[in-house]
Amino acid sequence: MNYPKLFAPLDLGHVTLPNRILMGSMHTGLEDKASDYDKLAAYFAERARGGIGLMVTGGIAPSIQGWLKPFGGQLTMPWHKPRHRKLTDAVHAEGGRICLQILHAGRYGYHPLSVAPSKIKSPITPFTPRALSSRGVERTIHDFMHCAKLAQEAGYDGVEVMGSEGYLINQFIAERTNQRNDAWGGDAARRMRFAIEIVRRTREAVGRDFIIIYRLSMLDLVEGGQDWSEIVTLAKAIEAAGASIINTGIGWHEARVPTIVTSVPRAGFAWVTKKLKGEVAIPLITTNRINMPEVAERILADGEADMVSMARPLLADPDWANKARAGRSERINTCIACNQACLDHVFQNKRASCLVNPRACHETELKIEPARVRKRIAVIGAGPAGMACASTLGERGHAVTLIDKAGEIGGQFNYAKQIPGKEEFHETLRYFRHRLNDTGVNVQLGQTADAASLHADGYDEVVIATGITPRTVSFPGSDDPRVLSYLDVLARHHSVGAKVAIIGAGGIGFDVAEFLVEHAPSPTSDVARWTREWGVDMQLAQRGGLQKPQPEAPARQIWLLQRSEGRPGARLNKTTGWVYRATLKAKQVTMLGNVSYQHFDDQGLHINVDGTPQVLPVDHVVICAGQEPNRRLADELIAAGLKVHVIGGADVAAELDAKRAIAQGTRLASQI
Ligand code: FAD
Ligand code: NAP
Ligand code: SF4
Repeated sequence: MNYPKLFAPLDLGHVTLPNRILMGSMHTGLEDKASDYDKLAAYFAERARGGIGLMVTGGIAPSIQGWLKPFGGQLTMPWHKPRHRKLTDAVHAEGGRICLQILHAGRYGYHPLSVAPSKIKSPITPFTPRALSSRGVERTIHDFMHCAKLAQEAGYDGVEVMGSEGYLINQFIAERTNQRNDAWGGDAARRMRFAIEIVRRTREAVGRDFIIIYRLSMLDLVEGGQDWSEIVTLAKAIEAAGASIINTGIGWHEARVPTIVTSVPRAGFAWVTKKLKGEVAIPLITTNRINMPEVAERILADGEADMVSMARPLLADPDWANKARAGRSERINTCIACNQACLDHVFQNKRASCLVNPRACHETELKIEPARVRKRIAVIGAGPAGMACASTLGERGHAVTLIDKAGEIGGQFNYAKQIPGKEEFHETLRYFRHRLNDTGVNVQLGQTADAASLHADGYDEVVIATGITPRTVSFPGSDDPRVLSYLDVLARHHSVGAKVAIIGAGGIGFDVAEFLVEHAPSPTSDVARWTREWGVDMQLAQRGGLQKPQPEAPARQIWLLQRSEGRPGARLNKTTGWVYRATLKAKQVTMLGNVSYQHFDDQGLHINVDGTPQVLPVDHVVICAGQEPNRRLADELIAAGLKVHVIGGADVAAELDAKRAIAQGTRLASQI
């Protein structure tokens, strides 16, 4: 059997799960409106069909005070049950199982009704919570229990009690946020009581034959978090109170240590769960940055946990489990942990999706159905837009030729994959290599497509996905051979001196800075090195598991520059931008805004900063000043009268990213 540990059944007493895969809770934005529950049901059903053992919904509030945001998803009244019944029926029809996550946001609630153990505002929300009275605490425990009971009546197989990530229960447990001096605070035993009472009374209410997962914060990563002995004590008490499984929670949302972004090593926190093994008898689930079956199998084989939780990887590929079980893991569309279409969307109040799988959470709308008329279609450019378009056209039955002038597929992903911390981009290229082959696409590499030959070949339609050309910047001395483009560095591997100025602080400027400051090999392959760099205490000797970060010395001295005012990197994505900024700061990169470029000579790069002249004594300048569409071929073909579609960077280069490129390519292909 492939991955025998991963596909070993797990006996929970009243029920046996078919495998050790938990689809972890993931807010999609579909939970919040009753009218979206048909879409949510289709999303879960597709993943149940994909062979997952057990799934957990996104967080659902047990009361209005517990909302994540105004009018967020809740299960508080009997009339909420029918919408939840849609989910449970859809999952059960596919042979799956599903738990409802009960999440009370506490002081993380983005609304004025929020409550907490003490009146202490969180650093990541603008609202100061009201401190719960003793009666309020009792009422809140009842709300959890009541929500679980309603979940049972709505057909759920269990609930997950969200006790981590800095939400309400976690706020009761940590002295950082609990400054009460009553039955619910004061010492560790009283701070834990809230969590234990919730599990105990929930178990009493739902009886034995119902799964209760408790998500336990095992590593708070904030000052004033729990110490390890308190975590072990709590885990034992939660087991005694009636939990069926303990899931791992890593890091509060306000923590300044990344926990899930792509630069976090794969399974980078499984060692935390392992520390708890042997302390309780119920199964333990580990989580965070587990995205491929080999990783999951190793964790289970090494006895680090009894089950693995994955959320984003199952957004990326609903068939993950079936592919792994069938020994086809090279066909898995791997989550690259970019957060660009999932978490970043949720933070912008948009529906979640997935950069590598735009169908995620759009299952009822973006359908890939057999083509009514089979056409001969050429796709020019095998970057993300072209690969997604060609393979989807192929899947629908069209005769597709994909042409790229480069010797390999992938376009700019071949540059992205070289950036330390972006190694996961290799997986997307591996996936598309197989997918193009499986969908019968004729891939022609090393060929520059031109209008004359495309015309002569008589294609029914042509898709132009020729990407971009880097924007050039002109100032006195910019024609010096020491002034490079990012392609000179990442594609042509030009040697670069010890002191470098980067012009342009967008995504590529940041990536090039990261590339130039890091020593090889990247820390992403080395958990101990990564935790040292970010100040995570693997001994868990300190409260919250923090220690002083010890970043390695930078490989080069870098200046990262932009013309606009303000701090460079402010426009990077919400959930990952702070990590890029913190990484470069730790590497002593000088980031300057309000810069004007004067000239380059043997002294270095002459600039004005806030109007004051400065000379940066650099060996090289690297231009990362954005991109322009490469649509010359498109214009020629249109002029020649061919039926042409333009996608990706060739269409619009401004604010282009792979999310838009892949989504545009897939959507177009679903309609031809
Ligand atoms: P491209 O990827 O540019 O592909 C165009 C292809 O067309 C190329 O392979 C080219 O060879 C081919 N071509 C051009 N003309 C012809 C012709 N006449 N005949 C045949 N072939 C031709 N995006 C993100 O979303 N997240 C990230 O983290 C991220 N990181 C990045 C890091 C770096 C260092 C770089 C450079 C880019 C990064 N991007 C990232 C941007 C992302 O890679 C691009 O948005 C995406 O590749 C655009 O896709 P595309 O298919 O439109 O074009
Ligand atoms: P970008 O994000 O648009 O940044 C371009 C930078 O160049 C800006 O800092 C801009 O700032 C500067 N610039 C623009 N015109 C200039 C000029 N004429 N002279 C000097 N400076 C100029 O573009 P990019 O960095 O090339 O990235 C391309 C795309 O790839 C982006 O849209 C991005 O989303 C995507 N990408 C994403 C990631 C990611 O991690 N999500 C990583 C890499 C790339 P000023 O105008 O202030 O100088
Ligand atoms: Fe993973 Fe990125 Fe997709 Fe989110 S958007 S599921 S992080 S690949």
